[in-house]
Amino acid sequence: MELPYAESWKIKMVEPVRKSTAEEREEWLKAAHYNVFQLKASEVYIDLLTDSGTGAMSDRQWAAMMTGDESYAGSTSFYELRDTIRRITGFEYVVPTHQGRAAENVLFSHLVHAGDYVPGNSHFDTTKGHIEARKAFAVDCTVDDARNTQLEVPFKGNVDPAKLEKALKEYGDKVPFIIVTITNNTAGGQPVSMQNLREVRALADKYGKRVVFDSARFAENAYFIKTREEGYADKTIKEICREMFDLADTMTMSSKKDGLVNMGGFIATRWEDVYEGCKKFAIPYEGYLTYGGMNGRDMAALAVGLDENTEFDMLHTRIHQVALLGKLLDEYGIPYQRPAGGHAIFVDALKVLTNVPKEEFPAQTLTVELYREAGIRACEIGYILADRDPVTRENRFGGNDFVRLAIPRRVYTDNHIRVIAAALKNVYDRRESINHGVRITWEAELMRHFTVKLEPVK
Ligand SMILES: *Cc1c(COP(=O)(O)O)cnc(C)c1O
Repeated sequence: MELPYAESWKIKMVEPVRKSTAEEREEWLKAAHYNVFQLKASEVYIDLLTDSGTGAMSDRQWAAMMTGDESYAGSTSFYELRDTIRRITGFEYVVPTHQGRAAENVLFSHLVHAGDYVPGNSHFDTTKGHIEARKAFAVDCTVDDARNTQLEVPFKGNVDPAKLEKALKEYGDKVPFIIVTITNNTAGGQPVSMQNLREVRALADKYGKRVVFDSARFAENAYFIKTREEGYADKTIKEICREMFDLADTMTMSSKKDGLVNMGGFIATRWEDVYEGCKKFAIPYEGYLTYGGMNGRDMAALAVGLDENTEFDMLHTRIHQVALLGKLLDEYGIPYQRPAGGHAIFVDALKVLTNVPKEEFPAQTLTVELYREAGIRACEIGYILADRDPVTRENRFGGNDFVRLAIPRRVYTDNHIRVIAAALKNVYDRRESINHGVRITWEAELMRHFTVKLEPVK
């Protein structure tokens, strides 16, 4: 008999989780203004808000914490981290930052100016925020396939080369660089193929542009290349990572994702001029160049995390769990962005809550209902997160309206996954009775989803 699948690790330390009553949850929702970001963690049973910084570290990472060097300048842990990043990416220069958006802030302070256009594939919200805050524009060149949630294609995160070329022609000198997000978080944790990265590189070379990878989930992207793209089955994850980064000039990284740590980020680049430009902003914003807002011990743990998470077994365990959730939703007929992504399942709220008008934010409404049902905290990746158009100030209802069920790394078991799927099924079964959503009572100008205040329409 073939042995069944099992996790590539065993558990050494556990943390209790707490259930709540329906009455408690109703009260907490109200106090949180129907925005799950405002809930206390103690009010949550299973937390799928994000896979960012929520993972469990390994025994090797905890051991590395003890060897962290807290020197202000020239920390040994920095050099360990730099050497690991060099080995995995081939990038010579490394600037640590306290998280991914800080890497964006430092790099974009150097490269993005008012009136610029930055083409890419579904810019992440902080990436878009840092572009728009500089009075520049994010140009989305994602393949149209990404919009059709029911279409089963292997690389839905890809850049559409025709759209990219049009943007490069139209905006010419106003394009500081092309940014490719691997995996494409906003489109559903969908991967970008090596072939597509090559096409982007060719266009960049043709128009004399540089390519930045927003690399938060680069290892998961490499896993999908290995398992879905022809010619990669026999390559190691580390070989694939190196081949991907060979097609880029610079990367920003949120280490809270594929770095397997709870906090941290970095910029890495092959270009000395980019490094010199970043140095000017890294020091005042983040700190000296050999720590950049990170503890020595955290850099030590990150070096180990990057090494561990670029191994096949680790990634297979993780992505298998996300796929299990997708499989269960298939059984229940619940529509989500297909195929299952690398870090999350993105439920297609417009196809679930068909009675809720888009002006009443269906995905946010479904997020609230899932919490109400079982204390499970998901995250709206939809019309609230899309913010308003910077020019017209209208809500942007053009894209997908998703509820993201993000799976933390090495935290929940497959039994938790079954609870999540069952809770969602219960909401799905009563979907016809949900006719109204929420309205905004207060919002911030940028990145409003974190702090927005809402109330039920009825
Ligand atoms: C999380 C994330 C960021 C920002 O990183 P933080 O560490 O949260 O600041 C940028 N891009 C992508 C694709 C991300 O997923």
